[in-house]
Amino acid sequence: MEYYSLNKTAPNTDFRNATINGLAPDKGLYFPAFIPKIETSFFQNIESISNEEIAFKVIAPYVGESIPENELRKIVYESINFPIPLVGIDEHIFSLELFHGPTLAFKDVGARFMSRCLSYFVKDRVGKVVVLVATSGDTGGAVANGFLGVENVEVVILYPSGKVSELQEKQLTALGNNIHALEVKGSFDDCQDMVKKAFVDDRLKNEIFLTSANSINVARWLPQQFYYFLAYKQWKDKKNPPVICVPSGNFGNICAGMLANISGLPVKHFIAACNANDVVTQYLASGNYIPAKTKHTISNAMDVGDPSNFIRILALYKNDFGSLANNISSYSISDDETKEAIKEVYENNNYLLDTHGAVAYKALKNYLSSHPDEKGIFWKQPIP
Ligand SMILES: *Cc1c(COP(=O)(O)O)cnc(C)c1O
Repeated sequence: MEYYSLNKTAPNTDFRNATINGLAPDKGLYFPAFIPKIETSFFQNIESISNEEIAFKVIAPYVGESIPENELRKIVYESINFPIPLVGIDEHIFSLELFHGPTLAFKDVGARFMSRCLSYFVKDRVGKVVVLVATSGDTGGAVANGFLGVENVEVVILYPSGKVSELQEKQLTALGNNIHALEVKGSFDDCQDMVKKAFVDDRLKNEIFLTSANSINVARWLPQQFYYFLAYKQWKDKKNPPVICVPSGNFGNICAGMLANISGLPVKHFIAACNANDVVTQYLASGNYIPAKTKHTISNAMDVGDPSNFIRILALYKNDFGSLANNISSYSISDDETKEAIKEVYENNNYLLDTHGAVAYKALKNYLSSHPDEKGIFWKQPIP
């Protein structure tokens, strides 16, 4: 597979170089040159295919020649070696539980996959690779855990002071070894800006080999497709594919789902659930994309004012607003609505939501209220 830069002024490259470098030399995000199609029979038989085999099938074309098959199988198996159950909340709403991984984050799959790929790519390298990552919450924990002890890799994590939970801060700061966490006075966007600046700083680039582990990195972004395939595997009503509602911040996860859909995965409709940070909700309503300052909310991992993967979503739909808007809706859910949703689901269904899952639940509920014949899945995270 070749990757091109969405800024279109850098040479194409392979999975290996895209992973090692993170961003293209022209500062664009890498994007696959074509989207592999998966045959219909695969989806008809999916219930009889193991999770490992599904994940391997999905990712292999994107990795191409960069990793030999037996090595890639090992990496894939280790990335999804925990349960990802689909649980019914009521007749219409299902929860995909993404908190059974080692750091309880829905970033575990991407982070584990990327760390193992990078470790494979740099094992014979002279000198270290420094992974620089900004986190609004649990990216950092998942990345730190994925990279802990990996040879030839040092990890530097920037996190906004006072804006991550106590547990998350411990996950970042308590590991030591090759994991270095820096507390930044500012928001997640400030952290992300510092990361972006570091990548274009020539002096820094001459001194150290920097790469990123945010979802701008293809090795973190692409394996998030696994969730959508594993959700579909567990979906009983195959004749009536699910609406999928994803709590969105940087839009890497939902963008991976939309990619999976274009590959052939049956999905009725996507919903981007947002908190008060609603640039994409506004964009879908008006056609204008206006980046905003980050607003601090109780679903902090989604506090992103200018989502980096939005440009990939546009690329998936070839900048055709009409077909994009046909496939995705978005709702902005306030903190009060989030709290009400937690209370409602706990009282009615005896199921405890986290704030991010609650935003997604509420957005799905809003959509289903005007589409009563459809059923949907929302992405559920841990209680931090
Ligand atoms: C990262 C994260 C999100 C947002 O995911 P994106 O891929 O950045 O859109 C939502 N909820 C939780 C709990 C997260 O960790």
